[in-house]
Amino acid sequence: MDKQRLNRYNKGMKEERKGIMETKRVIIKGGHVIDPSQHLDDMSNIYIENGTIVGISAGEPDEGWETAEVIEAAGLYAVPGLVDIHVHFRDPGFTEKEDILSGSQAAAAGGITSVVCMPNTNPPVSSPEIIRDILEKAAKADCWVYPMATITKDMAGAVLSDFETLFKAGAIGFSDDGRPVANARLMQDAMVQCQALGAPIASHCEDLDIIGDGKMNLGKVSRELGVPGMDRTSEDSVTAREIELAAGTGTAVHICHVSTKGSADILRDAKARGVRVTAETAPHYFMLTDELLRKGDADYRMNPPLRTEEDRIAILEAVRDGIIDVIATDHAPHTPAQKQDFIKAPNGIVGLETSFGACMTSLVHTGILSLYGLIERMSTLPAKLMGLPAGSLKAGSAADLMLFAPNEEWTVDPARFRSKSRNSAFKGMTFKGKVKLTLLGGRIVYDDRYSGR
Ligand SMILES: [Zn+2]
Repeated sequence: MDKQRLNRYNKGMKEERKGIMETKRVIIKGGHVIDPSQHLDDMSNIYIENGTIVGISAGEPDEGWETAEVIEAAGLYAVPGLVDIHVHFRDPGFTEKEDILSGSQAAAAGGITSVVCMPNTNPPVSSPEIIRDILEKAAKADCWVYPMATITKDMAGAVLSDFETLFKAGAIGFSDDGRPVANARLMQDAMVQCQALGAPIASHCEDLDIIGDGKMNLGKVSRELGVPGMDRTSEDSVTAREIELAAGTGTAVHICHVSTKGSADILRDAKARGVRVTAETAPHYFMLTDELLRKGDADYRMNPPLRTEEDRIAILEAVRDGIIDVIATDHAPHTPAQKQDFIKAPNGIVGLETSFGACMTSLVHTGILSLYGLIERMSTLPAKLMGLPAGSLKAGSAADLMLFAPNEEWTVDPARFRSKSRNSAFKGMTFKGKVKLTLLGGRIVYDDRYSGR
């Protein structure tokens, strides 16, 4: 990954923001700081100057910091801003669902300070002009926005994108997410070309011929409901294909939104063999199952679909063991009107504002992961995986950080989302662990310190 290019890009965004930066010196005082990038897990103060972290230390503030603004963090944890490497901001083309600004505000409310946007917009991200348009809008956003460009031109699956031109224009990686690259030879060439550029390539693993007109996981529940099912083989066969393509060419590949026990097993085997594969899943795959589809509510429909209890447990174990490296959201907003009809509704759920609370509740409070392990999987590792200047509180980093109350309970109310859309599969659930404050380059972009939700 071309770090210099990314740093330049970020510096440009930072300079645009200077005018609205409120304070020169800020101390985050008395919080429990976790930063896996420097093995920190202790009570400390964080020192910020002009939006940049300048140091972390315990004890009394240094000389010259008496006049700094103090953010009291007693009782709270302070961690690097979360990094979500799989979101759909729908901009350009579907801004009735979400746009870059509303999406970034939803991210901020979820403690997320960097996102990777998928390119299935309208038009798709297949040209430098679209990338420039996204980056221009992103300069005013409440999180850092890193666009991916398409693997095949306009996601049509016929010819490969001009990777070098798109990479130079600011794409941070490549994916046809929303669709598979059906032609294995094209995918193989894409992997080799991305490898040469140092760009990550992410695969949406799905065989559309097997999927047919499936609407939910194929199994006991779909049969009882009489709803066309999505066979898990659709996901697993392409996961296996991508892994063999990577193994055969000696390149790296990232697998999006893993949902099945089969794919988790394939990944476990591939990693044991030393294949350079990484993977993500989303909270719904280790928290929810297809039993929820009995409600006949399209807010429980996404792609890949909610699977069975056996799959849920397998995904949970794969996250615990690091077989699935990172947690993303696959934030996929749709309007209430579009989600009205159970069968005709498009696939996808929103996730930015619930992922941290969901993970705290299902992974940390259950003892499956330590807090440190969770922050690794939601910040440090995703940043590393996509080559982003994020996921760290090291001196010199942008002051992107999140404060949270580990034991505060709250109930998910989609009416209060900052996202334009409301299609949450977690609606009505109570979570333990709440984002209280989000800073982006030292600027407060979300503040829940004084108001309950
Ligand atoms: Zn996808």
